[in-house]
Amino acid sequence: MHQMTLAEIARGLADKKFSSEELTKTLLARIALLDPQLNSFISLTEDLALQQAKAADARRANGESGALLGAPIAHKDLFCTQGIRTSCGSKMLDNFKAPYDATVVAKLAAAGTVTLGKTNMDEFAMGSANESSYYGPVKNPWNLEHVPGGSSGGSAAAVAARLLPAATGTDTGGSIRQPAALTNLTGLKPTYGRVSRWGMIAYASSLDQGGPMARTAEDCAILLQGMAGFDPQDSTSIDEPVPDYSAGLNGSLQGLRIGVPKEYFSAGLDPRIAELIHNSVKELEKLGAVIKEISLPNMQHAIPAYYVIAPAEASSNLSRFDGVRFGHRCENPKDLIDLYKRSRGEGFGPEVQRRIMVGAYALSAGYYDAYYLKAQKIRRLIKNDFMAAFNEVDIILGPTTPNPAWKLGAKNSDPVAAYLEDVYTITANLAGLPGLSMPAGFVDGLPVGVQLLAPYFQEGRLLNVAHQYQLNTDWHTRTPTGF
Ligand code: GLN
Repeated sequence: MHQMTLAEIARGLADKKFSSEELTKTLLARIALLDPQLNSFISLTEDLALQQAKAADARRANGESGALLGAPIAHKDLFCTQGIRTSCGSKMLDNFKAPYDATVVAKLAAAGTVTLGKTNMDEFAMGSANESSYYGPVKNPWNLEHVPGGSSGGSAAAVAARLLPAATGTDTGGSIRQPAALTNLTGLKPTYGRVSRWGMIAYASSLDQGGPMARTAEDCAILLQGMAGFDPQDSTSIDEPVPDYSAGLNGSLQGLRIGVPKEYFSAGLDPRIAELIHNSVKELEKLGAVIKEISLPNMQHAIPAYYVIAPAEASSNLSRFDGVRFGHRCENPKDLIDLYKRSRGEGFGPEVQRRIMVGAYALSAGYYDAYYLKAQKIRRLIKNDFMAAFNEVDIILGPTTPNPAWKLGAKNSDPVAAYLEDVYTITANLAGLPGLSMPAGFVDGLPVGVQLLAPYFQEGRLLNVAHQYQLNTDWHTRTPTGF
């Protein structure tokens, strides 16, 4: 039962092969048995899950249908869930029970999903390895000595290990696509503004975007359908009609123009990954796509620009955690300044403190123009590069990450080494574009992802290309040994 995709579950529930309650119980038992090896959950919500499963079964018995009605999922622990701990992977929010549901959580619950729990993540979504969580690192089910990627590493490990079919994630600089790549999943970061950020605890507000993580593009289409849409509560949400993503999965790739940026194949890329990317290009060519070399000349500036803008926004967003209104408060403060200093010093881990310091510095008088404004100008140049490229091609293709999953702890002493792993993913966030990662093969038994980028609001195009690729390859069906 645990091998089923969301699409298969929807068919099984519709055909009354099993109930949502049976499926939910099976998966909860599997999580209890296997998750101790992975640490992919921060909180389990068994009572809520059983209650939602029974309610979904009752709705089906009353004649309702829907691809998500009775489907078990989990939420990354930065989506607010009413009355349930929403920790953001931080000691700061270890005691925080959200007073309301995030729009994404509420929409998916209304569609009938069953929430099994809240998944582990890098603290405040800062990281590429899921090692900065207050609740301990997550292990990669493909090799328990390796990281699953971050920051949505808990969602990735849980779905890859078949503990559940799909989960939500968020992506500020790659946190859906990168862990999807490192655990053999399909993950989609939508266009900025496509999915509501209301109730999604902010890391860098101009870059953050929620999206689906699943094993197939077909399942990402189903989950995205439940998440996407205009939300008046989020001022950056865009009022643009949401297409039927599942209905759009059968388009032919004949004549599809795929751009492969020459800058992607530089010295930093593992040559074995480069080969797998070339193989995926050949596969798409067989399906009718036309390949063209393109250039993204400002790509080399993306990491420095991102690691100014994201910490700058984070330092501002995280100033609300002051020991007064939310979360951790130190013992016996001697005065207000002492309360701020010790509550924040105790509540935030080292990576979060580093980013707050970098961000506050970049925003301070005298440095603002030199760092923050300069980074914003680079951001515009990067966007312009994409706009020029999309005049010539329909999709941009390349690796999702320069390396496969590294060993736990391998990059801990050098934060910049970890930042460099984001080289292929962050440009999409800086430009606000949609991006998808899908399985493309293995290196040393570890999964490799290929990334597809599309123009604004062309999530449907990404899902269709990935679905056609998955109809003709079987990388996405591979299961990690022991799970
Ligand atoms: N690795 C990137 C960072 O640490 C991206 C994280 C994310 O997308 N949330 O900022």
